Amino acid sequence: MRTIDDFTVPKEYISPENKYIGGIIREFVDEEVMPYRRKFDEDWKELKYARDLLKKAEVGLGLQKALWPVEFGGWGMGSSDYVGVISMRMFEELGRGDTALSLTFGANFWAPLAITVKPHINRELCAELAPMFCDTNELRLTCLAMTEPQGGSDIENVDAEHGRTIQTTAELDGDEWVINGHKIWPSNSGEAYLYAVICTTKRGSRDDKDIAYIYVPRDTKGLKVGEPYHKAGISFDANTDIWFDDVRVPKMYRAWGPGDDAKYFKEVTNWGSMAGAYSLGPMINTYEVLKDYCEKKTFHGKPLKENHAVAGVLSDIAMDIEVTRILGYQYGRMLDRPEIYGDRWSPEITAHGKIFKNFAAERAVDVSNKAMDIMGLYGPDRDHDMEKNWRDIKMTQLWEGGKQLGQAEIARYFYECETL
Ligand SMILES: Cc1cc2nc3c(=O)[nH]c(=O)nc-3n(C[C@H](O)[C@H](O)[C@H](O)COP(=O)(O)OP(=O)(O)OC[C@H]3O[C@@H](n4cnc5c(N)ncnc54)[C@H](O)[C@@H]3O)c2cc1C
Repeated sequence: MRTIDDFTVPKEYISPENKYIGGIIREFVDEEVMPYRRKFDEDWKELKYARDLLKKAEVGLGLQKALWPVEFGGWGMGSSDYVGVISMRMFEELGRGDTALSLTFGANFWAPLAITVKPHINRELCAELAPMFCDTNELRLTCLAMTEPQGGSDIENVDAEHGRTIQTTAELDGDEWVINGHKIWPSNSGEAYLYAVICTTKRGSRDDKDIAYIYVPRDTKGLKVGEPYHKAGISFDANTDIWFDDVRVPKMYRAWGPGDDAKYFKEVTNWGSMAGAYSLGPMINTYEVLKDYCEKKTFHGKPLKENHAVAGVLSDIAMDIEVTRILGYQYGRMLDRPEIYGDRWSPEITAHGKIFKNFAAERAVDVSNKAMDIMGLYGPDRDHDMEKNWRDIKMTQLWEGGKQLGQAEIARYFYECETL
């Protein structure tokens, strides 16, 4: 019997752990997510399922320790040569159960990346922050706070804007950073225990040295978060406002310092393009839903899949999943091998990453629309899973600067555009 495992994975360069970790997550999703996922939308405010499930994954399976170095109680995945391809497997498996679960989990990886991934592991700061995640049985999420009310794309557009539009300020006062500003929409923002805050040390500056990447623990005085937003989908993710009102943190909470913060922020946004896997997960689930539906549902006395017009569409969907999966593993591999493919913060990696992210989101939107067409009345029926995938998938196009920033970054590299 054909399954989702028949879509190609580049076996010659995935790590031995891929199968092991992937298997554990597949089982987790089948047992803990699939039976309950139709209830996630109603849970957007209370986040009861979200907290419970995330605790089982992050604490129960130990995933919240994954990136932190071994000497501070973590798994040391940041030192692995396979972190990109393993992330790809984890994100697509989680996304198969729920797009937002995958996003929430991926976002939890995101904020610590600047200080936990080789060759830039900040051991002093890891010693300070890792115990929050590794020496506890509590769920501890992190959040990368970039977007502001005046716009998120320009802040993520480091190569063109160099931090010019960031309004959240960081001012050094003795041995402390004092942060003031307002962030909106970050994943995990309502629930996080540690925030990585993108600030400027000089408003309006186009100098990368003024971009600051500063960690702020949740219980710091002056930090306030709002209520979770009520959204079209991605309900598992507690997106909300964060206000910083004279928030003080030790000087050492800045990831690296002038210049390097901008460089590693760029790298972190390039890791963010692995979000293509958050779009792939629900595409793979769409294959499962459609395979089952088109075998059981009949038309002209035959299973739906045995009709040429339907089979043609099903074939296009399989083609999209196959290509997206291969592209995702290739991008993960590129992040794992900077000595072959270039620095992770380089414009070429940005362009290749945005190709994966934009392509995956666009194919996912198309696949979910086609599935809705094939499923007729069962498509919008909440008992048949497709409409949830459909709503969630549309939102995967909107984050990380949206589709247009990705297009600008791809064109900038491949066509050597000078003004974008
Ligand atoms: C589910 C979800 C999770 C999110 N998670 C996070 C998170 O973890 N952290 C965080 O900080 N933010 C997060 N965001 C916010 C997200 O990153 C921003 O929405 C995104 O960067 C776009 O910013 P904006 O909505 O402010 O649009 P704007 O920047 O105001 O842009 C407005 C419009 O202009 C387009 N545009 C922008 N730049 C260009 C360009 N160069 N050329 C042409 N058109 C352009 C945009 O695509 C958009 O359509 C999340 C959003 C969602 C929906």
